[in-house]
Amino acid sequence: MEIMVLKGDGIGPEIMESSLNILNLLTENYNLKIDPVEFDIGAETISTGKWKLPAIIEEARKFKAILKAPMGHPELRNAGGTEDALDVILGLRSELDLYANVRPVKKLPGVQSVLRGYDEPGSINYTLIRENSEGLYSSHFGGQILRDEVAVDNQIITRKGTERISKYAFELAEKNYNRRKENKKKVTCVDKSNVLKSFVFFRKIFEEVSKDYPGVETQYMYADAMTQYMLFHPRELDVIVTENMFGDVLSDLAAATVGGLGFAYSANLSENTGMFEPVHGSAVDIAGKGIANPTAMILSTTMMLGWLGEAKYSDIVEKALSSVLADGTGTADMGGNVRTKEFTEKVMEKLRNS
Ligand code: ATP
Repeated sequence: MEIMVLKGDGIGPEIMESSLNILNLLTENYNLKIDPVEFDIGAETISTGKWKLPAIIEEARKFKAILKAPMGHPELRNAGGTEDALDVILGLRSELDLYANVRPVKKLPGVQSVLRGYDEPGSINYTLIRENSEGLYSSHFGGQILRDEVAVDNQIITRKGTERISKYAFELAEKNYNRRKENKKKVTCVDKSNVLKSFVFFRKIFEEVSKDYPGVETQYMYADAMTQYMLFHPRELDVIVTENMFGDVLSDLAAATVGGLGFAYSANLSENTGMFEPVHGSAVDIAGKGIANPTAMILSTTMMLGWLGEAKYSDIVEKALSSVLADGTGTADMGGNVRTKEFTEKVMEKLRNS
């Protein structure tokens, strides 16, 4: 199967190399049949006009799966003042209707949490589902700045959008291995329904959908209170569902509890297309130094393999990666001194010996 590969910007090409090397090893040494097709789509080729959004969407539609490294450069911006590459990221999510942004939050072996009492691997293990097609960010293509005096962005919440994302969250909770061992499966709805009508509607639809899942507990949190709950009670969390921008912000906070952005991976899913990418950005501050943590990129790749029905390959890569981390191997963000290439080589060595 051919997959679309977007190497992105900043540390993107460096961490994508890790993923491509691992995929290559799985193809050569095992029987994985994946053919990565690389595209030079990034902040520069977008801002020079070599790649325009409609052409990118047209290419993307030819693939079932897209493996994407972080894209964007803070200095390459359009006339409206926002980053050029964001048109592409948000455009792909919106045009391909990748409505479910699935972000696992998992404490891996050997990785330190900033929280006390969470040393055990798996002691933090939940999934944040971010609605990806509407919410405040859907205003990206429609916001206005008028006469340098007034700025407007609108939040969009629809019945269809809220129903399908709530349903996705409940189904994930239902089919999930019971992570909160002795407790019931749970979905936490995060909003600001005490302030905005759009969130009153979001919560109402969520509640309606919840009636179809009597075996799953529901919990309601306001987004501000949720930031504290995520730090004090991460063991109580199972599946979280929230609006687009809240999901963006909360997932960086969640990442910090499991070692940082280098460990935050994700899938953007529709019924029939998936785009898999790290949660973090292109980290231009460390680009070109060869010190980026490739874990989030590698785990995005395993998530893609699992979604494509190749779970046995995602399992062996995750085992190899966990074992490298458990050995105490760490990149600079983990307080270690192992470089991106060396880290990847260690994972590949484990894979060769598995
Ligand atoms: P975006 O808005 O596109 O998510 P950002 O401007 O919020 O991007 P990131 O690029 O995500 O920022 O980086 C935030 C910080 O985390 C930076 O200091 C960066 O160096 C660090 N960081 C992000 N990803 C990694 C990684 N894979 N390895 C090491 N450090 C990382």
